[in-house]
Amino acid sequence: MKNLSRRSFLEKFCAGAGATAFAVTLPSFSNNLKTNAKTYEGKKLNIALCGLGRYAGYLADGLEISKYCRLAGIVTGTPTKAEAWSKKYSIPQKSIYNYQNFDELINNKDIDLVYVVLPNAMHKEFVIKAAKAGKHVIVEKPMAITANDCQEMINACKKAGVQLAVGYRLHYEPYHLEIKRLGQEKVFGQVRLIEVSLGYKLGGENPSDWHLNKVLAGGGPLMNLGVYCVQASRYVLGEEPISVTAQFATVTNKKLFSEVEESISWQLNFPGGAVCTSTSSYNCNIDRFYASADEGFFELSPAVSYGPFKGKTSRGELNFPVINQQATQLDEIGKILLSNEQLPDHIKGEEGLKDMKILQAIYTAAGTGKKVSII
Ligand code: NAD
Repeated sequence: MKNLSRRSFLEKFCAGAGATAFAVTLPSFSNNLKTNAKTYEGKKLNIALCGLGRYAGYLADGLEISKYCRLAGIVTGTPTKAEAWSKKYSIPQKSIYNYQNFDELINNKDIDLVYVVLPNAMHKEFVIKAAKAGKHVIVEKPMAITANDCQEMINACKKAGVQLAVGYRLHYEPYHLEIKRLGQEKVFGQVRLIEVSLGYKLGGENPSDWHLNKVLAGGGPLMNLGVYCVQASRYVLGEEPISVTAQFATVTNKKLFSEVEESISWQLNFPGGAVCTSTSSYNCNIDRFYASADEGFFELSPAVSYGPFKGKTSRGELNFPVINQQATQLDEIGKILLSNEQLPDHIKGEEGLKDMKILQAIYTAAGTGKKVSII
């Protein structure tokens, strides 16, 4: 099979589509965003995207059809991007920032939330700065590059009285809500084994890409993709893993993978006896989830990318609407923040911290060859 670059893999497999006190009455939310978008006339949550790379483009598309949120500001270090985005999304000059004057956001009442979409190692600095500017924050996954950094980000948001969410888009996706229900409600009995993996084959990729740089990315495919596998195992079982074993695969492309792993596999042990085996890789294309339970199975493939997902259980096909994952995530968060309510635990910063502790334990297990306890 021909190698796929990250972009082409994602395009191939992902074709689917505060501090400020205000309270508004909101109609009930529906996933049918395109038809509902015009029916809400209330205040929208004003979002500034910080970092205008590839994923920020997906978020901007989501914001265009969002019911409760709008793209109100941008933070970029590239003046040409500032000009192009400002023109395309009608962003006023006063809501365009760079990394040097970011702190001036504190004076901008037209921004309610900063969405940090920067390389992983930069998340901490800009989440803390956004909190100090009195803005709510959504930070992309992985939340940071160490558990200590995650804790500092949580502390800063608490101190500033703003809310912090991790950009876990699958928490609002209907197929994922279903596998979570099937697992946690034991619809097919106790889940004994989960296999969930995500990977794509890098081909002709640029060695200076930050994803391959340990300082900026914090690690390789485990940080970027494995976090989804860890998440899925936790929310399907509704349990926290207690220990892990893991293995780095042999590096086949020494030019690209001199700093971060090329592929890593791990086995998480859960208190109820279930095991989750996963691989995250930049050396093969895989995107699937399978759960074996006492009285049946349920599976998704594609499973973790932007979809559209396909799934079945031992009783038949799963059939849910294809949604825009970014718009849905933004709307669910927007709806809560506009109502001055607390974000649910499953998307808060504390969740990103739990995942980061597990990712660190996986790296330790792979590095030492020993089973590592997760606390
Ligand atoms: P990207 O490389 O496309 O964009 C990164 C942006 O950061 C660029 O605009 C770049 O100019 C800017 N930047 C500022 N300082 C930089 C520096 N020192 N080095 C490199 N870039 C710098 O990356 P991306 O794919 O958009 O990823 C950004 C974040 O979003 C990451 O944390 C990633 O894990 C996350 N992400 C999430 C999803 C998802 O589905 N939730 C998908 C892709 C990426």
